Order: sequence, then C-alpha cells, then structure tokens
Amino acid sequence: MHHPLIKKILLYAVSPGIVFLVLGGVLVYKSIEVSALTKRVDLLTSELEILSLQIQRFSKNVTDLTEQTSGLANTLTNTKENIDAVTNKVGGIEQTVGSVAGTVNDLKKLAQSDPQLLKKYSKVYFLNENYTPLRLVTLPPEDTYTSSKQEQFLMEAWPFLKSLLNAAKADGMELYVKSGYRSFTEQKSIKSTYSVTYGAGTANTFSADQGYSEHQLGTTVDFITTGLGGTLSASFDKTKEFEWLANNAHRFGFVLSYPKGNAYYVYEPWHWRFVGIRLATYLHQSNINFYDMDQRMIDNYLINTFDSGL
Ligand SMILES: [Zn+2]
Repeated sequence: MHHPLIKKILLYAVSPGIVFLVLGGVLVYKSIEVSALTKRVDLLTSELEILSLQIQRFSKNVTDLTEQTSGLANTLTNTKENIDAVTNKVGGIEQTVGSVAGTVNDLKKLAQSDPQLLKKYSKVYFLNENYTPLRLVTLPPEDTYTSSKQEQFLMEAWPFLKSLLNAAKADGMELYVKSGYRSFTEQKSIKSTYSVTYGAGTANTFSADQGYSEHQLGTTVDFITTGLGGTLSASFDKTKEFEWLANNAHRFGFVLSYPKGNAYYVYEPWHWRFVGIRLATYLHQSNINFYDMDQRMIDNYLINTFDSGL
C-alpha cells in the first residue's frame, strides 16, 4: 500500500518518463523517417546530377551537330555553285560545238548543192549542153503515162515526186508523168533543124521546146491525166488534176514554171519543176512566180532544196 503522496510523486515522476519515452520513441521514428527521406533526396539529387550531365553532353552534341550541319550546308552551297559554274561552261561548250557542227553541216550541204538546180532558164537563158544530173532514177511504170518509154528523174528529188503522186492518188486523182529528164542530145535530135548557139547564161536565138532546159536538170516533169488523148495541151488546166496540183504541189516542193501570162515562155500548165518545199511554199503563199523572183533571192533557198519540211 502506498501512501497517496507517494502515489502522486510516482505519478509525477513516472508520467514525464512515459511522456519522454513516447516522445523519444516518436523522435527516433521520425528521425529514422527523415534519414530515409534524406537518403532518397540524396539519391534523387545524384540522379538529377547525372541527368544534368547527360543533358549537358546532349546539348553539346546538338551544338556540334548544328555546327557540322551548317558546315555541310556551306559545303553543299559551294558544291552547287561549282556545279552551276561547270554546267554553264559545259552549256557554253555544247553551244559552240553545236554551232560549229551546224556551220560545218551547212557548208557541207552547200558544197553538195548543185547551183544549177534553182537557176532560171528561159527563152534566152539556157543550161550548158554538157550539164547532166548527178544521179538519176527510173520511174516505176505505174507512175508514168507511156509504158513503152522509161522516164527518169533526179534521185534526190524523186522521194518528193513520189510523195506527190501518192498523195494525188489518195485524193482520187489520175495523175501521171508524161516526161521527166531529157538530155541535151535527146532535145537536140528533136530540134535538129534549128541552128543553135548555146551555153550557160548566153543569149540564144534558138526558140527551144518550152522549158527544155529545165527537163535537162532532172527535176522537172510534165504531168498528164487521162482523157487528153496523151497530149500535153493547155486544156490540162481544166482538169481536177491541175486544180489539185495548183493547191497541193508546193507541199512537195513543186512549182508551175510558166504560168498563164508569164513573160518567159508560153503557158505550160503541165510543166512543174521541183525547187524544194521551202521555196515552193514561199512562192505559193506569196502568190509569186519562180521566174519573177530575183535570182539572188532564189539562191538563198539552195541550201534547203532537199529539206523534207519547212
Ligand atoms: Zn516540160
């Protein structure tokens, strides 16, 4: 049995002890908790430091890459400029080569062109007796009117005549070649009774068979159609074949040498001469006759005589 005082004293003494114990316990627990938290914070801090280092490294890489990229971009720009410069040079060289090739080609064509092919021959201007075409082809029988006699034409101009005949046939025309190339000798035997003085560009007292000089070139034909009795007559111009020629012959390089009312020969609606598509088209569109053109103007077309288009 304790004295109540002792009890009180004990109570006062013990209570703070318990309080202290409890407080102490709490403190110890809290301090353990704090210490764990501190450790986590430390851990997080060191993780943050690692991250921050990584970010620094990464951003340095980015900077390096940016520098490298801009360096590359500069290099690319320089390279492109170099390529452009080289391309310009190559273009210049190509142009030079092209124009040189063009000039050489023109000179070659001109050297091969026969200046007689576009000369004007008339009552007073004759082709030299010694002139003969370079190469002649014999026309196929289906294109000639008289099957017993072979007709010839200048080889280079033949594809143009053949195209004309084919186109006429396709349009329902009955168009044939009555005569093509005629040699000087052949002509002379026909007109042997005449006394002739001749030569290129010389005046001639001989009134030749109309346009015979042009036939000696090998580039001229007399056309005919059925129903005219096989003769070359002025009534050829009443036929649909003549109308077709008047509208289409220029597309194949042919012109009517001696139209109605010309000052050089009698009217020959059947007599057509190859002068090249370019010149024939020019004459057709301008409504000018070949023989009314200045020879120097005509000569400008010589280089294009055998061009297949305009
Ligand atoms: Zn003729």
